[in-house]
Amino acid sequence: MEKDKRWQAEDIEAHRLPCWYGLGFCEDPVGLTLRTHKDVIYHTKLGEIVLHADMLSKSFGIGMFNLDYPARFGWGNSFVFRGEESDFLRYDIPFPAIEIETGVCNKCDGNGKDEWGNQCTRCFGRGKTTKHEWDAVNRTCASLCVFLQLAESCPISLTVNLAYQGRKLLDSGRPFTPQLITLRTGMISGQSFPMEGHFSADFVGWLRVKASPEDGEAARQAMLQAWRKMFISPPYENDFKITIERNGWFVMQISNECLIYPVQQSDIASNWGYGWTTHYMDSPAYQLILLAGLAELWRRAKTFLESDA
Ligand SMILES: [Zn+2]
Repeated sequence: MEKDKRWQAEDIEAHRLPCWYGLGFCEDPVGLTLRTHKDVIYHTKLGEIVLHADMLSKSFGIGMFNLDYPARFGWGNSFVFRGEESDFLRYDIPFPAIEIETGVCNKCDGNGKDEWGNQCTRCFGRGKTTKHEWDAVNRTCASLCVFLQLAESCPISLTVNLAYQGRKLLDSGRPFTPQLITLRTGMISGQSFPMEGHFSADFVGWLRVKASPEDGEAARQAMLQAWRKMFISPPYENDFKITIERNGWFVMQISNECLIYPVQQSDIASNWGYGWTTHYMDSPAYQLILLAGLAELWRRAKTFLESDA
């Protein structure tokens, strides 16, 4: 590795860079786990992110951004600090409830059926009315958005330091965890919540050769759990799909329109990683659901590569 190079997030496609952050899926509480090198947050000067944080606060009406590290990061309690472990900070990012019960359905008086015994068309048989609260999920997505902005632009000293540590680990023969995925998320005027990122050669190699149908199914179940944590209405389970092809091609979808897919299909045959993007992300919930599936694959690939080292 070149000593003075400032690494970019996309460099993981061609270079094996040491891990500076990673996501996993968590079942209890349902959400994400984040593990980040402490310098990603400690080196942050509020000035670097204040404009972006301010813009998100105003656009979504979600209050003030907190930075009082390591315990407080982001809006509200969206990042829950879980401690520090050899230069890395751990956070839980629990998914909030979006659909909330408001009372008894006044069309069917709570029994879920109409006068002919058919399912009530207003409450879909649940007997309860519900409403959608978006503030908490917007706070969670905004906190992730700012964190990932920091992780994307982590300082030279950090990347050089990590590269040095990685080399020391390689020399010592101990397991070396590379950065498997990088990503960034967007939030635009309450209408668009896109994501894009990069898969490393190690991650694509795992997808191509080692990932099993069980890995794909576990990620799909993570997506469904994420849905059920946020919504009372049941998901259309058949629309939740993960496709892992033997050439490393990877598509994860909530519907035919809302999905993660590779940017350039032609590069997939090589031994490099590749860039990915999303389509039709019109809800912050879709962002978290796709992240739940991706984080489960991320965790599984990491566990496999560490045990295989
Ligand atoms: Zn009803």
